[in-house]
Amino acid sequence: PYDVLVVGGGPAGASAAIYAARKGIRTGIVAERFGGQVLDTMSIENFISVRQTDGPKFAASLEEHVKEYNIDVMNLQRAKRLEKKEFIELELENGAVVKGKTVILSTGARWRNIGVPGEAEFKNKGVAYCPHCDGPLFAGKDVAVVGGGNSGVEAAIDLANIVNHVTVLEYNAELKADSVLQDRLKSLPNVTILTNARTQEITGTDKVNGISYIDLQTGEEKHVKLSGVFVQIGLVPNTDWLGDTVDRNKFGEIIIDQRGATNIPGVFAAGDCTNSPYKQIIISMGSGATASLSAFDHLIRSEVP
Ligand code: FAD
Repeated sequence: PYDVLVVGGGPAGASAAIYAARKGIRTGIVAERFGGQVLDTMSIENFISVRQTDGPKFAASLEEHVKEYNIDVMNLQRAKRLEKKEFIELELENGAVVKGKTVILSTGARWRNIGVPGEAEFKNKGVAYCPHCDGPLFAGKDVAVVGGGNSGVEAAIDLANIVNHVTVLEYNAELKADSVLQDRLKSLPNVTILTNARTQEITGTDKVNGISYIDLQTGEEKHVKLSGVFVQIGLVPNTDWLGDTVDRNKFGEIIIDQRGATNIPGVFAAGDCTNSPYKQIIISMGSGATASLSAFDHLIRSEVP
């Protein structure tokens, strides 16, 4: 078995694997798609100490760094089941079973899409998912936020500081965010809130130029001109395959403690698939390091050499 078996090859998994390998222990990493979400990212400007880079470049340097070490990289392999026996067993979609004395789950998350015309076409050309990441790209412009829950309203408050104007579109009759956030949002002069608004299409030519929605009270289709659309209808962790084996919260996020430990001894987790707040590259990498050091700690306490 591996001493540390990492599941997921994004920033969290890469960081966990490197920290483990640097302890001189047997380390493997299983990834459906090495690089993770950063592969879908254009400009990265908030990875501290790197002024600016782009997603594919960042993913390539993750891989390069991992390959500096004696780490077995099992890329293009999807895990489908986890079971604790003598060791922790990971069954892959191709039928193989890989074993670890400890396992670090770092399978990340994906943004929920609205699924309207224009969304996929204009991804990174005006359609964005992360206000912390892409907000500054729209400085002085008009944008929309789709979704009136906590993340949508937080995004709108954040963006209102940076952009010229924010239109919030909520499908339901009322915003669902906490009332203190709603009050804050309503106090801002450059925000328009549209409820009963069903997003129909994100329009554009080479980049976004507007959004169409149906006013559900009148049935009328309306169009707003703008340069950016932030989709904020939820982040879905890639954890369904775990079923009931590992404790997850109501959002499906793996519940970890300060050390990255799950409810199963020897199983740790890190990054966007966990209940840790704020989903960012730098945070995922930090939590990957935490989980890895905790796995090492677990090994030296549970093994007689
Ligand atoms: P992920 O990056 O999601 O990696 C998960 C890994 O697990 C992948 O390798 C995946 O293939 C693998 N995996 C999933 N399921 C399985 C399975 N069953 N078996 C095996 N492998 C599996 N953050 C910033 O800090 N700055 C930015 O500018 C920024 N821009 C972003 C732009 C976009 C469009 C998106 C989508 C995100 C952006 N983020 C940004 C967020 C950032 O990408 C994430 O916080 C970060 O990638 C999380 O790292 P992770 O390792 O936890 O998960």
